Amino acid sequence: MPRLVCSSRRRVVVAMLLATPLVASAQTPQRDQRAHARFLALNVAIGATASIARAVVSGAPVRAALAKGLLGGSLMSGGMELIGTESRATRFAGLQLTAIGASVTRNVDAGVPVFSDITLPLYPLYVRVRPLSSTPITARVSVMTAAKLTSVMTAGSRPRIDWKETFATGAPVFASPRWRLPSSTCPLPCEGSFAQHNAGVVIYSASAGTDYDLRRTLAHESVHLAQQTRDALLDAIPASDAAMARFGSGGRLISRFFVLDVLMPLRLIDESEARMRGASRRNSWYETEARAFAPGGELR
Ligand SMILES: [Zn+2]
Repeated sequence: MPRLVCSSRRRVVVAMLLATPLVASAQTPQRDQRAHARFLALNVAIGATASIARAVVSGAPVRAALAKGLLGGSLMSGGMELIGTESRATRFAGLQLTAIGASVTRNVDAGVPVFSDITLPLYPLYVRVRPLSSTPITARVSVMTAAKLTSVMTAGSRPRIDWKETFATGAPVFASPRWRLPSSTCPLPCEGSFAQHNAGVVIYSASAGTDYDLRRTLAHESVHLAQQTRDALLDAIPASDAAMARFGSGGRLISRFFVLDVLMPLRLIDESEARMRGASRRNSWYETEARAFAPGGELR
């Protein structure tokens, strides 16, 4: 009998030990490893496709462009991976590495060194680094981020800027007094999300208490920021420059100071693909990709 008690106790202890990691993993969402591998590959594919498309238009050698695209895509994957560590220390570096990857993908023209023209986001600015040019560092204002900043700062709820998180992220991060924030990924009857990213600006709920992990939540929003940066560098900035050039010297003067970063084709694909599938925003490409790298800090 004592032996039986002892063995049943042992069984209980073993069962508790086995159950502990399960309980822990049920508390915060974990990475889906298959989705993670898929999105690492997708970023390499986006880099390669963008480089080849650019080479075809400009007449640059396609093979060399493919090599640069694969390198740029791998760097974009690496950037999202760094953000996906969910460490505060690597968030900024992850965003910049994603931007370097997208810049490399764009530098496909013949004879153009891989790192000769790099755009780094310090939202609301795009900082352009061209070491071989007479003006090696220039900066332009993102019109979309400036507009979003204006609307956030004049909103009735008056969120306050969190400088510590802003510097750690590379984009303005605001703390909102609201308990939950309106979210398309969490429509009614859901009461909203803990944080949201929009046009290079992140807002989080400062009054949600201890029911979520801010560090992990901001890592998730930073992947959305990296998605926006990828689209801006590959598409929106070149489109803005091309459109402004059509307005002659006046347009070129404006584009020295501003980027009209409205054309985001990857974002459009994300939205229309989800609509065609009849999927909710939560299961869209961007959301699935962001969760694959950084599942977020929701406690369950
Ligand atoms: Zn999200």
